[in-house]
Amino acid sequence: MTFSDLNLNAPLLNALDDLGYTKPTTIQARAFSVIMSGRDVCGIAQTGTGKTFAYLLPCLRLWKFSKDTAPQILIIVPTRELVVQVVEAVKKLTTYMNVAVVGVYGGVNINTQKLEVAEGMDVLVATPGRLIDLMYDGAFKTKAIKRLVIDEVDEMLNLGFRAQLKAILDLLPPKRQNLMFSATITGDVELLMNTYFDTPELIEA
Ligand code: AMP
Repeated sequence: MTFSDLNLNAPLLNALDDLGYTKPTTIQARAFSVIMSGRDVCGIAQTGTGKTFAYLLPCLRLWKFSKDTAPQILIIVPTRELVVQVVEAVKKLTTYMNVAVVGVYGGVNINTQKLEVAEGMDVLVATPGRLIDLMYDGAFKTKAIKRLVIDEVDEMLNLGFRAQLKAILDLLPPKRQNLMFSATITGDVELLMNTYFDTPELIEA
C-alpha cells in the first residue's frame, strides 16, 4: 500500500512526497479510514510507529478552510518537547495548505502566548496546564473545535494531568470527534476514555 491508495488530497500527497514518505506505517494505514469516518478512536502506539502522522493526516484531510480564525483541531500532548515536535510535523504536512498552527506550553510567559493565540490559528497544539489557563482566560475561541487529539495519554496521566484534562474536556464543544493515542491502555486511560469517548474503535500499531 502507498499513500496514493488513501483518500488523501493533492496538498497532503505533495507534502508527503517532499518528505520522501511513500508508504503509510501500520498505524497510519489502520487509523486513516476509521478517523475519516468520524468515529472516536483509541490508538495503541509507541513513539516511532508514525503515530503523529496517523492522526495528523486524516485530521488535516478533514480540515475545511474557514475565514474564522478559531482552531478546528486541538492536540493535547504531555510535554513542551512534544508540542514543538507536533507543531513541526503539522508545518511539514501543510506546506501546500493555508493552515496556521500554534503551539503553547507552560514554563514561558503566558502573556506572550495569549497574544499569539489571539491572532488565531487552525490547529492548536498544547500541554494541558497551559491550555486550561488560556481557556479560563478566554484567550481563544473553542467553539470551532471539531477534532480533539490527546497524544501520549498514559504519559499525561502519569504526570498528574488528570484534573486539567477533565476540565478541558468539559469546556469543549460536545459535538466533536475524539482521538487518543497511548503506548499502553492502563486503567486510568480506560476510565478517561469510557467517560468522554463515544464507543471508540481500538486500533493497534
Ligand atoms: P512518530 O511515531 O509519530 O514519533 O514518528 C516517528 C518518525 O517516523 C518521525 O520522524 C516521522 O517523521 C517518521 N515517519 C512518519 N510516517 C512515516 C512514513 N510513512 N514513512 C517514513 N517515515 C515516517
